[in-house]
Formats: sequence, structure tokens, C-alpha cells
Amino acid sequence: MSHQYDVVVIGGGNAGVSLAARLSRYGVKNIGLIEPKDHHLYQPLFSHIAGGRAAVKEATRSQASVMPKGVAWIKDHAVDVDTKANTVMLASGSTVGYHHLVVCPGLQYRWDSVPGLAEAVHSPYGASHYEFELAPKVWSLLSSMRSGTAVFTMPSGPIKCGGASQKPMYLACDYWREQGVLDKIRVVMVQPYPTVFGIPEVDRELERKIVEYGIELRTNSELVAVDAAGRRATIRNNVTNTTEDLTYDVLNAVPPQSAPEWLKATDLPAPGGQDGFVHVDTETLRHVRHSNVWSLGDAAATTNSKAGGALRKQTKVVAKNLVAARQGKPPAMKYDGYSVCPFTVSRTTVVFAEFDDHYRPMPTIPKVPTWKESRVSWWVDRIMFPQVYWHMILKGRA
Ligand SMILES: Cc1cc2nc3c(=O)[nH]c(=O)nc-3n(C[C@H](O)[C@H](O)[C@H](O)COP(=O)(O)OP(=O)(O)OC[C@H]3O[C@@H](n4cnc5c(N)ncnc54)[C@H](O)[C@@H]3O)c2cc1C
Repeated sequence: MSHQYDVVVIGGGNAGVSLAARLSRYGVKNIGLIEPKDHHLYQPLFSHIAGGRAAVKEATRSQASVMPKGVAWIKDHAVDVDTKANTVMLASGSTVGYHHLVVCPGLQYRWDSVPGLAEAVHSPYGASHYEFELAPKVWSLLSSMRSGTAVFTMPSGPIKCGGASQKPMYLACDYWREQGVLDKIRVVMVQPYPTVFGIPEVDRELERKIVEYGIELRTNSELVAVDAAGRRATIRNNVTNTTEDLTYDVLNAVPPQSAPEWLKATDLPAPGGQDGFVHVDTETLRHVRHSNVWSLGDAAATTNSKAGGALRKQTKVVAKNLVAARQGKPPAMKYDGYSVCPFTVSRTTVVFAEFDDHYRPMPTIPKVPTWKESRVSWWVDRIMFPQVYWHMILKGRA
């Protein structure tokens, strides 16, 4: 074994860095964080980049610069976990030992699960703002459109920040309106659920914008195949079981997503569970069978909508409960299912949805209807949150 740590964290994204920083603040000393990438990404800005409202460089910093002081960076991929030996196997062939393990490697994209999708998003007419490298291409395609058909799709199943699939679409519609070409562009939004989001207050606000921009909304529907050369997207309505072929001039597709493949093969998911997410108690975020294993963020089998906003609460819960467990105390802090989705419904306004794991409104400031389209919410999402992220969240202070 190459090294033994008090706490090993798998994944140095939003969850892993903010959790490691918070644990350090709480006095935990010997932490190892496994993260293979050189660059850290603030993913919520991908939507703004794709909508022409943020520069690429605002969404990325070197991983070295965001690593909490005193935390050992293990620059490698975790490939397996042995919960009996309390070790993590790495792609390089070495092994690290832990007393406590925190598993937060995020989600994986399943480009292969829709025939033709991978080819389409790399073709001259397709892109996806869910990939950092493709987000600027989305804006270049959308901003150069003057007529034709633009199709925006969201897959069914677990995804990061579900509402984010809609954001570049509204930003583009507002831009086309400014340019005087909106009425020459057919905009189709493909949505797998019965309503545009799922919270009546938010749905009403989004539906108002959909009518305002003249967007064609396909509910209960998803992309099932793409012919990249012919620029044809096949959409299936899952209720009527009918399909429709849409010829597009621009396609922005969000890929289907799942738990990482290697994680599914460990004994961390629920036995017999099909989805592969880490089987934690949804309140304490402690593993149901392994008391020294914890999970948070997109890879945890929690019931909330997966988003960075949820991590603002989850990080504190895991850090407090893990520290308590090290002292032989029960985990007392509970996660309440809180999550967020800021919809950029124009180039200067946001509909800010805050809700619990039953999609019931859960505003941070009680009685303030944040789901109403607002310029203040735009400022919070576009200006304040990135600063809070880099300077407070990643430092374990928010
Ligand atoms: C386009 C887009 C828009 C979004 N908009 C919003 C928004 O407006 N508001 C909001 O709250 N959330 C938003 N999100 C969601 C938010 O970014 C995620 O929910 C959040 O980043 C989850 O954090 P995480 O640490 O679980 O996963 P990630 O931040 O994805 O981090 C996972 C890390 O694990 C690493 N990793 C992967 N595999 C391994 C391995 N085998 N070994 C070691 N490390 C590994 C990865 O390299 C990565 O650094 C958005 C996401 C996207 C893509």
C-alpha cells in the first residue's frame, strides 16, 4: 500500500474539494483526495458560456489552485474500493488505505446510449453545453443562426441540474429577439417529463416565457436517435409511443447520464440496485452498510435533484457527521433534500427555483417568491455565485 490516510476523498469536483476543505477546517489532518484532472470546472457557467453570457476562462481554474492547504492530491483515477480492507485501488496500480472514505466522483455521460448522438454533437450542426469543450461551440452555432430550426433536448433519468438543459435556449431566444430574427427561427424543446419542470409556480413562469418566445414544447418526449449527416433528430413521445423526425439546423443535446461504470461494480451501490449510485442514508449521508463510508453530490443515491446548490447543505452534513463518527458519536446532522435550479430565462433575468426532494418550494429567504423572473436573481446566479464558489464554497466556508 502506498499510503494510509485518515480520510480519503474520491473526486475533486464541487463535492470533494469543498468537503476536504471543510474537514480541514474542522481539524482533520491526514486527508488524501483522488482527482485525475488538471483543471477544476465551475459547471453552472457552462450554460452562460453556451448562451454567450460568460467567457470560457471564468469557468475553470487549475486543480492545484483549488486544492485545500494540507490536503494530499493523489493525481489518479479510483478504479475499485475494497470495503473489507478499507482500501481504494488506483488506475496506476497502487492502493491507498483509509479510516473513512468519501465517494464523490460525479456522473458519467452516456453518449453511446442514443445512436448517432456522439457524432451529431461533434458535427458542424450539433453541440452540447454539458461538455466544457463544446459549450463555446453552442454559442457560436446559436449566435450565427438567422433562420431555420433549433432543437434543444433533455434526456430522462438522473442528470446534473435538470433545468440547465433549458438555459442556453432562453438565452438564445432573447438574443434572436434582440437581433430581430426570432420569428424566423423554429425553436423546439424536448422534455421527458409531463411539465416543463415539475413545480407549479416555476412551470407557470417558464410557460409564460415559452409562449413569449414562441417555443414549441414537446413534453413526455426524448431524443432516441440522430442522423448527423442528414441533420435529423428522432424524438419519441413516451406516453403515446409515437416518434417524430425533426430536421434541424442546430441541435443542442444533453447526454443521458448514469453513475460511473467502475462504481457500479463495487459493493457501494444498493445490493441488486440497478442504478449504481452510492447507497447512503439520505439524511445522514452515511453508507447504509459500511459505517466508515460516506457519499455526497451527484454520485450519491440521494433523492434530491442533483445540483451544486444541494452540496451547499450536503457538505456540511457529511463533514459534521464524519467528525462525530471519528469521536465515536452518532451522526446527528441531517440533509433536508434541498436543491436549486436557476433558469436563465433572458439575458438579464433568472427564475430561481429552490425546492426539496418532493419538488416542493423551499425558499432560502421565507416568503420571497424567488421563482418569479427577476434581475436580482440574475445577478445572484451570474455574478455572486461564481465568486461564492471560488472563494467560499471550495474553501469549505459556504
Ligand atoms: C451544464 C451544467 C449546468 C449546471 N448548472 C447548475 C446550476 O446552475 N446550479 C447548480 O447548483 N448546479 C448546476 N450544475 C450541476 C453541478 O455542477 C453538479 O451537481 C456538481 O458539480 C456536482 O458535484 P460533484 O462533486 O458531485 O461532481 P463533479 O463536480 O462533476 O466532480 C466530480 C469529480 O470527480 C472526478 N472523478 C471522476 N471519476 C473519478 C475517479 N474514478 N477517480 C477520482 N476522481 C474521479 C472528476 O474528474 C470530477 O472532478 C450544472 C451542471 C452542468 C453540467
